[in-house]
Amino acid sequence: MVSEQPQTISPLLLARNREHIKGSIGLDLLPRLKDIVAKSEGQVQYSFSFDIDQDEICIIKAYVDTRISVICQRCLKPISIDIERNSILGIFSNSEELDRLDNEYEPFELDEETISLDMLIEDELLLAMPIAPLHNDNKCKDKNTTKRSTKNIKENPFSVLKKLKNNKA
Ligand SMILES: [Zn+2]
Repeated sequence: MVSEQPQTISPLLLARNREHIKGSIGLDLLPRLKDIVAKSEGQVQYSFSFDIDQDEICIIKAYVDTRISVICQRCLKPISIDIERNSILGIFSNSEELDRLDNEYEPFELDEETISLDMLIEDELLLAMPIAPLHNDNKCKDKNTTKRSTKNIKENPFSVLKKLKNNKA
């Protein structure tokens, strides 16, 4: 697998230079996603535009797009779903910066100067994942299977839930 992209990136530096990164990565290279999908085949297309807004906040305009196979929570058979997500991440490293973030931004905490590009892609995909994917009614093979199977859902990392909560606040 050839990757021309660096594995770690410095968002603040990229924002200062107004850089743009795009490419694709195999689903099999994203470990947290691998736990959730039924088959880790296929590619994720991504693009990130780094910028600084009028309030001097570093932002990342993120786009991810892929097709994944997950387990239907009704019949427990695989189902293919398209995942596409556009978001604007507002970078912060302390509470004062967090307070200044525009409401339309997704808060993105930066603890260290560099982050893993793969993790950034993975975070975006995880946030776009449906909590309980289901076939359309007529495609579900076994409707008697209990709806309450949460095996796959439990494996959603807590960080995702935390992030979702933050967004609502
Ligand atoms: Zn189903």
